[in-house]
Amino acid sequence: MSGEPADCGRCDAVCCRFPVLLQPGDDVPRRFTDVTDAGLAVMARDEEGWCVAIDAARMRCSIYDSRPDVCRRFAMDGPDCREIRADYNRRGARGIPLVMY
Ligand code: SF4
Ligand code: SF4
Repeated sequence: MSGEPADCGRCDAVCCRFPVLLQPGDDVPRRFTDVTDAGLAVMARDEEGWCVAIDAARMRCSIYDSRPDVCRRFAMDGPDCREIRADYNRRGARGIPLVMY
């Protein structure tokens, strides 16, 4: 776990490396989406694992107002937030293997 309190304004948006499964009500620009081998609609990710909708210059979501439901429900300072920040800090900025679907 990270000892630092969560602060999205000072975080590299590392939660945006989690796989994001799209839900029926999501309305995301198609260019940011992908389909897994199992046929699941997901947010596409770049070669380093970040969601392609991230604004890399500012490390913020570029589609914030229409972000998927999964992203809306992600809890800042919740268990997943704390765990992925701790992992990121341990390993450095690259190479977190996250495959969940
Ligand atoms: S929710 Fe957590 S991991 Fe995501 S940007 Fe905010 S502090 Fe970082
Ligand atoms: S859609 Fe936005 S909030 Fe969701 S993972 Fe991608 S960049 Fe992050």
